Amino acid sequence: MTVTPDDETHLRRAIALAAHARATGDAPYGSLLVGPDGSVLAEAHNTVTSDNDISAHPELKMAKWAASNLDGDTAAKTTMYTSCQPCGMCTGAIQRSGLGRVVFALATDQLLQLNPGGGWPTVQQDGPALFDEARVPIDGFYS
Ligand SMILES: [Zn+2]
Repeated sequence: MTVTPDDETHLRRAIALAAHARATGDAPYGSLLVGPDGSVLAEAHNTVTSDNDISAHPELKMAKWAASNLDGDTAAKTTMYTSCQPCGMCTGAIQRSGLGRVVFALATDQLLQLNPGGGWPTVQQDGPALFDEARVPIDGFYS
């Protein structure tokens, strides 16, 4: 789907929220949710520094808000507008939230051009292990 003039209007609000975050001492990112009728349902900006919370990305806040406050049908027809493409953490939350669409301004590669050395460090993950023991609490839960 393409980005429409209405989308651009909402993206400009996300960018304004990002500017607000920067002005208040946080990283410059902002997001909002627009419901099926075109009304703004919720807004957030990055508060990682001010909340001392590594998960305080606006996209994650909006995904959690959607999951808590919208029924599935409404969430599927709701769009998240965000100043930058959601990171991996936020993408996972968005996928679980039921939101139907995300529209972003800066792509991740464009952001990295503005923030050389940014991005996500890799973390060593070792496994799988102990399959017979680890499966016990899960076995039967989903059936
Ligand atoms: Zn994020």
